[in-house]
Amino acid sequence: MKTEVLIIGGGLAGSAAAIGLARAGRQVTLLERDPQARHKVCGEFLSLEALKYLEEMGVGVAEAGGVAIRAVRLAWGSTFKAAELPFRAMSLTRRRLDELLLGCAEQAGARVMRGCQVESLLHRDAVPGAGPLDSSTAPWRAIVSDAAPIETQAAFLATGKHDLRGRARPQGSRPGMVAFKMYWRLSPAQAAALEGHVEIMLYRGGYAGLQMVEEGAANLCSVVAQTELQRLGGRWESLLAAMQKECSLLRQRLEGARALLAHPLAVAPIPYGFVRECGLAPSQGVWALGDQAVVIPSFTGDGMSIALHSGRLAAQMYLRGETPERFQKRLSHETSGQMALATMVSRGLAWRPVRGLFTAAVELRPATLGVVARRTRIAAAFMQV
Ligand SMILES: Cc1cc2nc3c(=O)[nH]c(=O)nc-3n(C[C@H](O)[C@H](O)[C@H](O)COP(=O)(O)OP(=O)(O)OC[C@H]3O[C@@H](n4cnc5c(N)ncnc54)[C@H](O)[C@@H]3O)c2cc1C
Repeated sequence: MKTEVLIIGGGLAGSAAAIGLARAGRQVTLLERDPQARHKVCGEFLSLEALKYLEEMGVGVAEAGGVAIRAVRLAWGSTFKAAELPFRAMSLTRRRLDELLLGCAEQAGARVMRGCQVESLLHRDAVPGAGPLDSSTAPWRAIVSDAAPIETQAAFLATGKHDLRGRARPQGSRPGMVAFKMYWRLSPAQAAALEGHVEIMLYRGGYAGLQMVEEGAANLCSVVAQTELQRLGGRWESLLAAMQKECSLLRQRLEGARALLAHPLAVAPIPYGFVRECGLAPSQGVWALGDQAVVIPSFTGDGMSIALHSGRLAAQMYLRGETPERFQKRLSHETSGQMALATMVSRGLAWRPVRGLFTAAVELRPATLGVVARRTRIAAAFMQV
């Protein structure tokens, strides 16, 4: 089978690129390994920028049951401080959001193939016996499990946290973190207290985000240093107990709560701080999107809007005849300010001496929370929505 553009991965970045290219009339095939959208490790906090991109693509988050978030609470020890968010925000489960985006891509004319896992992506020059490259042949070949290979003119890599064989990302500048996610049914009183807020809870070696999502569930998504998890015996149950012992707001929220998944979802290692740039981690002729291009620390950065932004930008630059190398350079430039601040805040939240300074600043001036939230978003100048 042949296609003009092959997109590997049907998360936010892959779908955004597919929508942009298909709407411009290009022949696009998107391969997604999961037969249907599933829960993913993600805090599911949608910033204003992400909401704008989604609206532009035709996804109505409110219509899909998304929950409005107006304020942020930072909780540590036995105290917490709150501030209004300086922008509109919402939450929606990834299972629902990813499904909606894939539907939009299909509607726009992209061929979406579910349950198709790409094993590897080879350049024709690297395929033994494939012969020299000429302009009439597709330079890329994707090897797909249980299906025939696919030849393509251009390859977009949007596999998120999962690296393709031979294309592993180096660890980022903030490595060594593990993430967990669990949905809870909170008691009515605690659900009412959480309503409209995202709560960031601090504990030794990491922090967690808690917020309501659709259908009355609450998403608790946490990150912790691998060393701290090891100290706790490597078990989620011990981590959860330690988190509650250190943060009384979390203990309060989970009183009488029921876990909605049999086991938490987990992901490790996460190459936080990774940025694909020419020279450092060259794109090798592939358009790398979303987490394959930039992995920003969770809760202090805006991963979903970067993923949507990268897919949209890649589609625009491809349509203008630009190269993947130029795209990668531009994306890393546009996200570098956000990455620097998000990495600094993430380090500070997890490291006791700096955490003390940060919480003292928030205690003195809770509006600091809103300022940090605003500064760790994609700059309006780069958005063009
Ligand atoms: C703990 C944590 C909390 C977070 N919280 C937030 C938050 O609250 N707000 C926010 O904005 N961001 C958050 N993020 C970041 C956000 O989740 C990611 O940046 C975003 O999901 C990246 O989108 P993506 O499209 O690159 O990858 P993904 O959404 O992971 O999609 C990749 C897709 O590719 C598919 N795939 C993988 N391998 C293959 C293959 N070989 N063949 C075919 N398909 C394949 C996968 O099945 C998947 O559907 C968080 C991240 C973490 C780790």
